[in-house]
Amino acid sequence: MSRSFFDHAFAAGPTGPAPDAGWSEPPPRKGFFTDTSICIGCKACEVACKEWNGVPQDGIYELLGSSYDNTGALGASTWRHVAFIEQPVRQADHEGADHDRAVDLGMPSFDKPGDSDGERTEFRWLMSSDVCKHCTNAACLDVCPTGALFRTEFGTVVVQDDICNGCGYCVPACPYGVIERREGEPEVKNVGVAQKCTLCYDRLGAGMTPACAKACPTESIQFGDLDELRERADQRVRQLHESGVADARLYGADPDDGVGGAGAFFLLLDEPETYGLPPDPQASTNDLPAMWKRAGLATLGMLAAAGAAFLGSRR
Ligand code: SF4
Ligand code: SF4
Ligand code: SF4
Repeated sequence: MSRSFFDHAFAAGPTGPAPDAGWSEPPPRKGFFTDTSICIGCKACEVACKEWNGVPQDGIYELLGSSYDNTGALGASTWRHVAFIEQPVRQADHEGADHDRAVDLGMPSFDKPGDSDGERTEFRWLMSSDVCKHCTNAACLDVCPTGALFRTEFGTVVVQDDICNGCGYCVPACPYGVIERREGEPEVKNVGVAQKCTLCYDRLGAGMTPACAKACPTESIQFGDLDELRERADQRVRQLHESGVADARLYGADPDDGVGGAGAFFLLLDEPETYGLPPDPQASTNDLPAMWKRAGLATLGMLAAAGAAFLGSRR
């Protein structure tokens, strides 16, 4: 089926987001594969991101109360967020029984060191380092009226701080709740400006690995060419399934999903909702081509009716 102007304007085509954005002979699309099964929750990635990008501190010392997490969610001053999810181990994991999959995010209790009877406690920790997905069809970018959000030659999505006018249109457009205007006193860097992960655009330009991936001691965050990362991720899922981890699955790796596939995708050990991720994210601009077509047809219809009325009145 041929693609209209509107389809081209609001969705990445078969060639990839960078060529669609007008880059000629761009390098291979870059991205992240975050394998949450080997994240140890050290938060080195969060710290490295803040350090490299000069992101102001937020909630460094305060625990949330509902978890051992301290930063809570992605936001204008948290471009990487490591979620800590304390989850009861399901009975099925032990006995193969079909069992209730309810998730309790409450605080677990621990024995003091030395007091334990050696039995493993009935919960597990899920840890996942979340980030901007650098969507193939990035609604934040599509709705930005100033061009502050742009597609880089690496296929990533970056905000230009000095062009953003702080209108905030991008904030509700993001299906993951990633991008946010920075709040704070006037002296805070980039206050009022939309902020999010740049996939370390400056480092990529210098041939370097993003700071968060470089700092991760377990290689939970893997950076590289997206095609190669997808192959590696498929292999890892197969390996986990063969080891009996039946719940391992990829999130954001499907180019046919509601955002055309993510540039930053994940291996999860449970449903996306457990990690606070939408199960079926949709770019809020997906319906725009159809809406514009309908608006165009309606306008043509009105013009035709007005023309007919005019001609009729002259008879
Ligand atoms: S995750 Fe949100 S902020 Fe990041 S590129 Fe996609 S729409 Fe934009
Ligand atoms: S890629 Fe760079 S900007 Fe993005 S989360 Fe990692 S360190 Fe932060
Ligand atoms: S640095 Fe790696 S292991 Fe540590 S919290 Fe981040 S993703 Fe997890």
